[in-house]
Amino acid sequence: MDERDERMRKFPRFICKQVGYFCSTQQLFRMNTPVFLPFYHTVSDENLPHILNYPYRNVAQFEKELDFFLKYFKPVSLEELASENYSGKKVFHLSFDDGLRECADVIAPILLKKGIPATFFLNSAFIDNRALFHKYKASLILSRLRENPDNETEEFLANNNLDGNKILTSGISQIDILNRAAEKLKIDFSDFLKNQQPYLTSGQVKKLVSNGFSIGAHSHTHPEFWKISPEKQIEEVRESMSVIESLVKPKVRAFSFPFTDSGVPVQVLETIHNEKICDFTFGTAGVKSDSLDFHLQRYPAEQSGDFVQNLKGEFVYYQLRKWMRKATVKH
Ligand SMILES: [Zn+2]
Repeated sequence: MDERDERMRKFPRFICKQVGYFCSTQQLFRMNTPVFLPFYHTVSDENLPHILNYPYRNVAQFEKELDFFLKYFKPVSLEELASENYSGKKVFHLSFDDGLRECADVIAPILLKKGIPATFFLNSAFIDNRALFHKYKASLILSRLRENPDNETEEFLANNNLDGNKILTSGISQIDILNRAAEKLKIDFSDFLKNQQPYLTSGQVKKLVSNGFSIGAHSHTHPEFWKISPEKQIEEVRESMSVIESLVKPKVRAFSFPFTDSGVPVQVLETIHNEKICDFTFGTAGVKSDSLDFHLQRYPAEQSGDFVQNLKGEFVYYQLRKWMRKATVKH
């Protein structure tokens, strides 16, 4: 996506945010919309050097956002969502991607206190801290460079067109460059995994299940799906689902596409469904309907800017697109 496309994409949402400012929250959320599916990654009061690629919430902000959801929507579990056992009610189902340790340490206790069910989507290659997501590697390198600039590493990254914040745009195919930059800075990812334990362990995952939470898959290695072949996409879904199934035997077998479902061909979605690799799949297109009844769109809650205005803008945007007959994602 070039800069112009990015501006074109942001412009209607910007206008909708301005319109949303004048709308009554109560009325806006009461309007007919698809089931509301906000998702996050992590919540922490600490500075997490491995996460510079999205603005995660601190505990106070997260609790405020949950209270806001609870004011307008009723929380439902993944099973209730799957059985559509909520007719006539405005409901939401909450989920979290990437399987980070804060899901057990910080998020689950808050959700239990407030009585909110949720699904945690895990990358099978990262459970038990066996490997680190390439965006978190990039964040660790950038955090180190911000603290201790290093000319040689910066020059090496610039030669690979990954200087400054551009390192956060690196894809899984550039993982060798990230590994080499880390070596130059004497960052040892294995040590980081061992000491920091950024991911959930199998034991923590099982405890989440015993506390009533749902577990789904989020691919094996978190690749950019739009850059890999359809066969490889299906393989990533199949492998991660089978690890989750053997770990926790979920009642509803769910998968959330890493980054975005945009660029996943309809044939891949249909194969996943027809071969019963899982029951439901999730995208990240925001508040939108989807032309496939087993594929649902979620709202990325971790955006910069004012949370309520972002959310109201999203619902205004949905109504605008519905009026233009463009509120349904077609594949
Ligand atoms: Zn993810």
